[in-house]
Amino acid sequence: MAAGEVLRSFSQLFFPETCAGCAGKLTSSENFICSDCISSLSILTPEERLAEYKGRYETDKLIDAIYPLFGMMKDSAEIEIIHRVKYRNKQRMAVFLGRRHAEEIIDYYDCDILTPVPLHKLKKLERGYNQSELISRGISEVSGIPVVNALTKTKYTETQTHKSGFERRKNIYNTFVLSKGVSVEGKSVVLVDDVLTTGSTVSECARVLKENGASKVTVATLALTL
Ligand SMILES: [Zn+2]
Repeated sequence: MAAGEVLRSFSQLFFPETCAGCAGKLTSSENFICSDCISSLSILTPEERLAEYKGRYETDKLIDAIYPLFGMMKDSAEIEIIHRVKYRNKQRMAVFLGRRHAEEIIDYYDCDILTPVPLHKLKKLERGYNQSELISRGISEVSGIPVVNALTKTKYTETQTHKSGFERRKNIYNTFVLSKGVSVEGKSVVLVDDVLTTGSTVSECARVLKENGASKVTVATLALTL
């Protein structure tokens, strides 16, 4: 056993890590999520991703493809995992899941940059981190695609969770700009976020990127609400 592993086992004896999906105890070979939960994640097939894309985004011409890793239904283990990534300071887990994303899906590897959906600076201060940046970092570690913070959120908006599709679009309209000193002219951009719900946020980000000359905008997320 290497020194690092000894230390890790030792710390787990006193501070056992629990699974983000089922809250069960993790073994020393498991990271963040137990192997049972990992195998029960409903990883979407390429056909399922394409069908969801066609049903949701094909007509608006802003988003060219979507790559959610898994589908997320009400009261599922996936919901708990995403909730932890977002609100419970599980920063290493966000990077870990980003790596899983890039190991599982390689379709977007020919793009130029990864751009996290930004948080307003006050919201980032409140939360302490932007989960989309951490997921991007994980994807970048595996795929080698650079992370560029190409977008800035200029307005603080209330949480979108309880709003209708129309209200979400209205709420988010004109709240993103291209970051100072960044050019996306002719670039193929992958927008990275944690969850794809109605897509109003990523559509608005895509609009700004395309207006500034991006040739292609695809979306990579951990989850897709089904
Ligand atoms: Zn579990």
